[in-house]
Amino acid sequence: MPSRGHRTLVADADSGTLLQDLPFCGVWAMTTYDACDYGCEYCVTYAQGRARPLVARGEVADRLRRELVRIPRGVTIAAGCLVDNYPGTEADEQVTREALEVLVEDGREALIITKGTTVTRDIDLLLAHPSIDVKVSIITLDEEEAARLEPRAPTPAARLATVRELHDAGVEASVMVLPMVPGVTDVRPIIEWAGGEIPVSIGPMSVMNPVIATSRFGRDFDQLEVGRQYYEEMRSVGPHPNVQWLRPPYADYDPAVTFAGRSCEQTEATGGVGDSSSRAEQVVRHVLAAEVNAIGVLAMEVFSPYVRIYRGRPPARRLADQGRGLPEVAELTARSAGLRRTVVSVDVDGDLVSAVHSIEGTLDEPWDETPPGTRARLSLASAFRFDRYGMIIEVWQEVIELSFDA
Ligand code: SF4
Repeated sequence: MPSRGHRTLVADADSGTLLQDLPFCGVWAMTTYDACDYGCEYCVTYAQGRARPLVARGEVADRLRRELVRIPRGVTIAAGCLVDNYPGTEADEQVTREALEVLVEDGREALIITKGTTVTRDIDLLLAHPSIDVKVSIITLDEEEAARLEPRAPTPAARLATVRELHDAGVEASVMVLPMVPGVTDVRPIIEWAGGEIPVSIGPMSVMNPVIATSRFGRDFDQLEVGRQYYEEMRSVGPHPNVQWLRPPYADYDPAVTFAGRSCEQTEATGGVGDSSSRAEQVVRHVLAAEVNAIGVLAMEVFSPYVRIYRGRPPARRLADQGRGLPEVAELTARSAGLRRTVVSVDVDGDLVSAVHSIEGTLDEPWDETPPGTRARLSLASAFRFDRYGMIIEVWQEVIELSFDA
């Protein structure tokens, strides 16, 4: 498989598109720079390089207003999913600040993920926004490890100071320990620092990116092992107030454990990752898990930015819900607790991987005429087509059956 170049997931710099739909992640990514210069070893966005504004200062606001018009209300605008919007140069460029002014004016739900310290410059705007969270990414407090794995990012100490300053100013700020890297990340001192006062969210490393397996981590990982170690760490650290563990995509789960965030109790599959014979099949299982595990962002590394989602089975090409996927899936996962996924089969045929699977959950709010407390079950046929770089470029989904049990 050819290696992937940089920027494959970033909005086309020539078109200057600031907002990009991330199917399966449930957000639109806002990207104000064409690349990220922090150089993280575990980066899954393939967007590393010299950070330059995607749109020139003074032109960002108009561009963003035009793009926001086509995005439905209720969708989160997430800055920093693909490229950090606060690189060092933002102190001079101020293009992210210009975009933030528009988000304040627009007032829809927004999220910032960053390692950049310049975000504190924008405290005035963050306080003026009705609904915005700032997640500061920190994977270790060990300065040497951080210098090795995130060579051009601000130091962990500087990032902790950033979270503290945001929090003390009244901004909804938290620490995001994502990815938690086995053997590198010790969440205890981070949790201790946060003291139950500042929220901490933790998620496992994703190694679907082949670069990670041959990186400066000094060893290879497989995703199942990462999931297991993450899970063991979660049990050993134990519950802490204001600490949220995201459910890992792969692991041997204890159904008694309920992960914070979406109340997903158990994931079932007929075969574990260890049984999977191809990377494409593993990727598809990863994506199917992401659908119910509220970690869709971990799946973004496998989607081309040009992915299309169709309703039906291949070769039909009728876009599903304007390309965002099946509304039935979105409704069920948004309105249900106790989500459970079952994979019935996964078949690989060349560049096409087909799966039959189901998602079920107990409604915790009404869905049309169906009252809360009802068990809802969606049986689905899905197919994923990969390009030669291993990115998913087309998805087909069809509802086989939707049923409700009182
Ligand atoms: S800050 Fe984020 S986008 Fe930038 S290199 Fe690190 S992981 Fe990648």
